[in-house]
Amino acid sequence: MEIQSPKGTRDILPSEIHAWQWVEKVARSVFETYGYQEIRTPIFESTELFVRGVGDTTDIVEKEMFTFNDKANRSISLRPEGTASVARAMLQNRLLDATSVLKLYYIGQMFRYDRPQAGRYREFWQVGVEVFGADNPAVDAEVIALGTHFFSALGLKNLTLRLNNIGDHACRPKYVEALRAHAEANLDQLCGKCRGRYQRNPLRILDCKNGCRVALGDMPKVTDYWCAPCREHFNVLKGHLDESGVSYEQDPYLVRGLDYYSRTTFEFMVGGLGAQDAIGGAGRYDYLVEELGGQPTPGIGFALGVDRIILALEAQNVEIPIQSPVVVYIAVLGDEAMPVAFQLAQNLRYSGIRADLEYTARSLKAQMKTANKLDAQYVVMIGEDEIKAKSATVREMGSGDQQSVAFNQLAETLSSK
Ligand code: AMP
Repeated sequence: MEIQSPKGTRDILPSEIHAWQWVEKVARSVFETYGYQEIRTPIFESTELFVRGVGDTTDIVEKEMFTFNDKANRSISLRPEGTASVARAMLQNRLLDATSVLKLYYIGQMFRYDRPQAGRYREFWQVGVEVFGADNPAVDAEVIALGTHFFSALGLKNLTLRLNNIGDHACRPKYVEALRAHAEANLDQLCGKCRGRYQRNPLRILDCKNGCRVALGDMPKVTDYWCAPCREHFNVLKGHLDESGVSYEQDPYLVRGLDYYSRTTFEFMVGGLGAQDAIGGAGRYDYLVEELGGQPTPGIGFALGVDRIILALEAQNVEIPIQSPVVVYIAVLGDEAMPVAFQLAQNLRYSGIRADLEYTARSLKAQMKTANKLDAQYVVMIGEDEIKAKSATVREMGSGDQQSVAFNQLAETLSSK
């Protein structure tokens, strides 16, 4: 039996790659316009990083991590998300100095042992940004506006932005207590999982996938528990978003699945994806860096799911710029033509023209077929006559027009077309 890719993973084939490369290109270009620099962190980390950084009562850490012991018996996990790794890298490499703000972005695979379905995989891709060193709500507004800008640069429509503030160390404990009391009074309505964890982390009830939030009816709202600084932070953020024309829906129950968030949380949803309509989200994490052993350092960021962005682009019929594999295909007619054709291909390539040539000595008809399949604009034919005349026969595939072009003029002629 042929070996298959592991469950929940898939190959991104050459026929699909344009969309992926384009999304990554737009991401880099938009993120860099806002002053963000790329960082690449390891695909695996010490398990402890995610236990401390993401939180041991989260679904991700409790049951979705790919964790194994390496040969020296260290516990290692494939990264399930990017923020904890970027925060670790920031600390380890002393990237933040006291006087500045650090703005980073990443593009890469994440791994979660989740139940695979359309739009949900065990290996998936995220693009994300992180900002360290500023708790000004204008930074929250920038990160959200950046996400919105990126989606509009891709041509995605029908986006919804849900926004909340889940409080800070001053006010959240009171809110958490109220949630716990509410859960306790309605224990029989909770799913088994929430019954097991509501004492430790009742916030999880709000994003329980079994619908506990709805089952519990009128849950306490964080808006009623905000301290004055959290209320102020949220109002200033909303002011910035209003001024820059970013629309949002306030959702007092938006907590998101990771423990490290404080204050601002947000999520982008897109039409046309069915159940997996969350294409990205994140928020502020002012306590994460301290949790990882650093000095108190505010932070905020987002992670957007590339797989779902691609599905949404397809669902919305967004036109993606496609590049054909080659511009020029060199047809090789006869053994003596091979060294000449090979040299000409190299000349074209060094001139920046995407070119390929025939290696299997088939009939001209078969070679023309290949050229068509590769969507070549020109076929350059090299046979006995051409070698004698030091001049290639160039056929323009669209019109069928043919002309003779001297070998030493070929690159120049084709690049000027
Ligand atoms: P999260 O890190 O859970 O906040 O996820 C951020 C975004 O990553 C989500 O909105 C999804 O678009 C995407 N995402 C998360 N988990 C998966 C998955 N298992 N498969 C595909 N995309 C995912």
